Amino acid sequence: MGAVGGLDEFEQEAVGFLDAHASRRPDRQAAWGEGSDQVGLFEEKSREQELAELAEAQAWRRQVFDAGFGWLTGPARYGGRELPTSYERRWQAVQARYDVVAGNVFGIGLGMVAPTILAHGTDAAKDRYLRALHRGDVVACQLFSEPGAGSDLASLQTKAERDGDVWVVNGQKVWTSGAQFSDIGEIICRTDPNVAKHKGLTGFVVDMHAAGVEVRPLRQMTGGASFNEVFFSDVVVPDDHRLGAVNGGWGVALTTLMNERAAIGVGAAGGAPFGTSRLIELLRHLGRRNDPLLRQQLADIWINVHVARFTNLRAMEKLQAGQIPGPELSIAKLALTNNLQLISQFLTSALGPRLIADTGEWGTYAWAELVLGVPGYRVAGGTDEVLRNIIGERVLGLPKEPRADTRTPS
Ligand SMILES: Cc1cc2nc3c(=O)[nH]c(=O)nc-3n(C[C@H](O)[C@H](O)[C@H](O)COP(=O)(O)OP(=O)(O)OC[C@H]3O[C@@H](n4cnc5c(N)ncnc54)[C@H](O)[C@@H]3O)c2cc1C
Repeated sequence: MGAVGGLDEFEQEAVGFLDAHASRRPDRQAAWGEGSDQVGLFEEKSREQELAELAEAQAWRRQVFDAGFGWLTGPARYGGRELPTSYERRWQAVQARYDVVAGNVFGIGLGMVAPTILAHGTDAAKDRYLRALHRGDVVACQLFSEPGAGSDLASLQTKAERDGDVWVVNGQKVWTSGAQFSDIGEIICRTDPNVAKHKGLTGFVVDMHAAGVEVRPLRQMTGGASFNEVFFSDVVVPDDHRLGAVNGGWGVALTTLMNERAAIGVGAAGGAPFGTSRLIELLRHLGRRNDPLLRQQLADIWINVHVARFTNLRAMEKLQAGQIPGPELSIAKLALTNNLQLISQFLTSALGPRLIADTGEWGTYAWAELVLGVPGYRVAGGTDEVLRNIIGERVLGLPKEPRADTRTPS
């Protein structure tokens, strides 16, 4: 890819590519009753549908990458163009005007695992995976949580033991989103059980197709099975797949978690991925536009979504200035889940029984999927309570919460 001029010149280049390979979205918004009414937060698909959509998403990602738009900010060595993040934002804005295949399956790989490999991986791991992840050839998942370790991640028990040039992994992970179609996973394992819990952890990139890896789907209350239990029995991981120093896994995990909260919070536009206009149309459809309580709720949603959006823009400006996402980005995720709860409450009041009985009426029962998905959002990527602790302690500088497991005996 040759040198790039200013942002406007870049936009012309992007429009040229998209005009040639995708169709533009119609200017007007779809009218009530037109197209799909799906608004779920989690994807509810059959295995066949999931694999077909994955293949389609990979084919589009390859085209995008090969044309030079797949990793605008990345190092040239891995196929990136070393451009400022303003170019990435412009690409996203231009791409949003076109009907292109959604890239949700790459969210964890590109938003969390790739930045961690870039920051902590060996040259061998970077050469092998960074380009492949951004080109969509490799899909990644995050193997952190365990049955006994979620918010308190440092108490995880899956162990990795060194055997010459390789490590042998045994244990169980849980709630692993996308493990069913992932090629690699970022795993944090216990490598020293005899030191303070967060000092005995090491991160690795594990091959999800390796002997001894077993993925079992978990069905959630929304109906789908987008996450899994993953069992590891004597799984061999080469030492050049280690992330960071032996027993330096806590820092590796924090890099991923900060990127996760930034990706979930900032990426979700403050909590109304479908736009608040959809809620106004719902009131019109229900003949309740003049209901004062619903209007009040809607105004609250509108204000909160916009405040979150502006906070996110400020965070993006920081990123653009080359700063690493800090704990204040946890605010973005908490604002998102607060707004999703406001939206759930509004939908429950507006729809009443239509939310729990499928009458076949367009744009009514479909909201049940969103309402049922919100509690999961409040847990994934750091629960509301844990995020409040982080904001209190690291952003506001309040005294630390007592930690039962680190208190010295009196
Ligand atoms: C949809 C979804 C997708 C997920 N995807 C992944 C994934 O891809 N990979 C992965 O590794 N994990 C994933 N997770 C797991 C997620 O990270 C954990 O569920 C989360 O960290 C919480 O851990 P836990 O479920 O063990 O709950 P716990 O940590 O047991 O928490 C239980 C309750 O106690 C509260 N609590 C805990 N500690 C404190 C504290 N110090 N102060 C106040 N309250 C506290 C919590 O807020 C919560 O209400 C996913 C979860 C969900 C819901």
